[in-house]
Amino acid sequence: MSIFNEMTVRCPACGDENAFRAVRSVNADRRADFRAAILDESFQRTTCSACGTTFRVDPDFAYVNADRGQWIAALPLVKLADWKEEEGEAKRVFDRVYGAEASPAVQAIGKKVRPRVTFGWAGLREKLVIVAQGLDDVTIELCKAAVIRGSASSPIGSDTELRLLAVDPADASLVFGWLQSTDEAEGPKVRLPRNVYDEIGSDESGAWADLRAGVEAGLYVDLNRMLLAA
Ligand SMILES: [Zn+2]
Repeated sequence: MSIFNEMTVRCPACGDENAFRAVRSVNADRRADFRAAILDESFQRTTCSACGTTFRVDPDFAYVNADRGQWIAALPLVKLADWKEEEGEAKRVFDRVYGAEASPAVQAIGKKVRPRVTFGWAGLREKLVIVAQGLDDVTIELCKAAVIRGSASSPIGSDTELRLLAVDPADASLVFGWLQSTDEAEGPKVRLPRNVYDEIGSDESGAWADLRAGVEAGLYVDLNRMLLAA
């Protein structure tokens, strides 16, 4: 089931306190509308009752969609600095909820899903896009490394992130975008031909093996874990 907490949130524009129903758990198998709202970026967006500013409350919830094989600890951006500890905590939560002490039905769900950790809305949305397109999230992270290496002026930094936004239905090319982490504002877009994804995924030369092992070393499957560790 999907769970919400009543709380107050402070408007970033005027500072007024607003009543808000913060999501703590999303079951997308039962609530396809929540999944759709994450994809269209309307989920957990609210309008300040005092000044009318629209803003989005940072994610901090568990997302499960057994039919698509997804379990995600969707954490707020402020926790990114402690990604290693948060990743460990998410693993413990996942093992407790779906592990040996769970009912057989719940354990069966645990075996269908791949646990992941994301920070911020853009990271969560990207995981949904990847699975919706039948792509592999580890290979997508390696594709980002290829994009960064191949561009002379990647606006990479602590406040920008490269995210898969969509797959072009015309030629199956991957459309990445540089986003502002804080507000998901879109910067430059980068297109990657589908055959690059296919080549990296098959990795016949073995050139990607080390980076692949690094990216998939934990639940936070994101190129960022390599950049943050460096
Ligand atoms: Zn306000």
